[in-house]
Amino acid sequence: MKKLALHWQILLGMALGMIFALILSNFAWGSDFISDWIKPFGTIFINALKLIAVPLILASLIKGISDLKDISQLSKMGFRTISIYIMTTVIAVSVGLVIVNLVEPGNTISEDTRTELVESYGGDADLTRQNAQKQKEAGPLQALVDLVPENIIGAAGKNSNMLQVIFFAIFFGIGLILIPEKTSKPVKDFFDGFNEVILKMIDIIMLTAPYGVFALLAALVVEAPSADLFAALGMYALCVVGGLLIMILIYTLIVWVFTKKSPSFFINGISPAQLLAFSTSSSAATLPVTMERVEEHLGVGKEVSSFVLPIGATINMDGTSLYQAVAAVFIAQAFGMELSLATQLGIIATATLASIGSAAVPGAGMVMLVIVLAQAGIPEAGLALIFAIDRPLDMCRTTVNVTGDASVSMLVAKSVNKLRDKPLVKNWDDNYKK
Ligand code: ASP
Repeated sequence: MKKLALHWQILLGMALGMIFALILSNFAWGSDFISDWIKPFGTIFINALKLIAVPLILASLIKGISDLKDISQLSKMGFRTISIYIMTTVIAVSVGLVIVNLVEPGNTISEDTRTELVESYGGDADLTRQNAQKQKEAGPLQALVDLVPENIIGAAGKNSNMLQVIFFAIFFGIGLILIPEKTSKPVKDFFDGFNEVILKMIDIIMLTAPYGVFALLAALVVEAPSADLFAALGMYALCVVGGLLIMILIYTLIVWVFTKKSPSFFINGISPAQLLAFSTSSSAATLPVTMERVEEHLGVGKEVSSFVLPIGATINMDGTSLYQAVAAVFIAQAFGMELSLATQLGIIATATLASIGSAAVPGAGMVMLVIVLAQAGIPEAGLALIFAIDRPLDMCRTTVNVTGDASVSMLVAKSVNKLRDKPLVKNWDDNYKK
């Protein structure tokens, strides 16, 4: 029998988890059974995701930066590419924040459900409120001071401060570029290998996702059996998808305005890569097709695409950053936390950084969401809440990640005069035949 694709397995896990819990809740012992014997597997799954976050940042950032070879590579094209990437990411996070603040999906939850939620996920609402209060009272430069850890083990340890870990990783990466090749080579090789191992570990964790999701959903059904929670999750998903569609519209318009290429030209050219991104949930896996489409069908010169796209697949994840912003605010709303403007501005910064640090593999955006939550003082336990519907959202955000990279490659190509008028293939809307 042909093996079911992972995303179907996960959807099946979700459905079975719900059905299982609905059946068991008819028995007096059902809820206890699920809490004692099923839910812990969901918790283990979430813990495994959190466990991987610090090594993932270290490995992927250090590798990413040291791949730049030398600082001067960040010259004209590099500087332009990275600035546009950061700009589009900030736009994406802002779109997400506006939508989630307008729609307030987490506020549709009733007080009773909210209390149950806080209790069942062990989220200490008082503590998180105190954290938020502390952040409000801090001086204007506190965020900057907090960026620099006095001790890396402490930063990566309990209550880890991910921004400090990111700071360390970037600093380390820069140091690595600046030392002579002979000395840096073994260190680079080590981090290359380290990165591979971490990515493999994420693969393995994702293989257990159908079971993790089964446990999480079963626990969700018996512990917070209210329909309003499910309705709120649905609204949250709509906010993410709505925001992602707006981003696609924005890219198409930007490409149209700056390169004069029509929306249908752009979408026709890139759609096979979008479909692949949707079905694999991985920008990295999609990269070869993205490159081919951008070069042959959108007219971008190879010297531009081969530089802009691989960097984009690693650091430009607009869909992911938008999702992280919406998810963080949604969880805060669900747990009844008020987020100040300062905290929301902080979310723009952390979601931008967290998306840059996310690996281009399935589920990475959710792992890095931990950073955004930790930094804003939002209970990390909230991950369990949104995990159940993460995979379909991952498919959608990856599609946006890839579309964003393609549009930026067109802008950069135009700016350095490397955008051809005619595509390489005779008929540019030829369907993808391979
Ligand atoms: N799956 C996404 C990508 O590869 C990253 C994420 O999880 O958001 O682009």
